[in-house]
Amino acid sequence: MEHKKLKTFREKLLQKKQEILEAYNKNKTYGKEADEEGAQDIADKASNSYTKEFLFSLSNNERDMLQLVDEALVRIDGRRYGVCVVCEDELDKKRLDAVPWARTCISCQEKQEQGLL
Ligand SMILES: [Zn+2]
Repeated sequence: MEHKKLKTFREKLLQKKQEILEAYNKNKTYGKEADEEGAQDIADKASNSYTKEFLFSLSNNERDMLQLVDEALVRIDGRRYGVCVVCEDELDKKRLDAVPWARTCISCQEKQEQGLL
């Protein structure tokens, strides 16, 4: 995939990551009394590598999504982005546009959902 395209996807992925972390921070602030130290603590955890506690306090959904986004970023850095992690076919461009963190092509995903993989 061309460098320019990769850069666009990387930006999309980083933006998504930011969204997840912001939504998480917001929930936290609503969920308990906002003390500055706590907010700082979460921001630190979010910007560094995730600690177990931090990941544990995310919902399953947020956690899965963050992991998918992080994996996609790793694939971009490793020049493995845009191909299915199972069959190594190129992913459909429209699919990547809609789901930049997609790991598999549609047929592999269907097989996975049916428990065939
Ligand atoms: Zn595939």
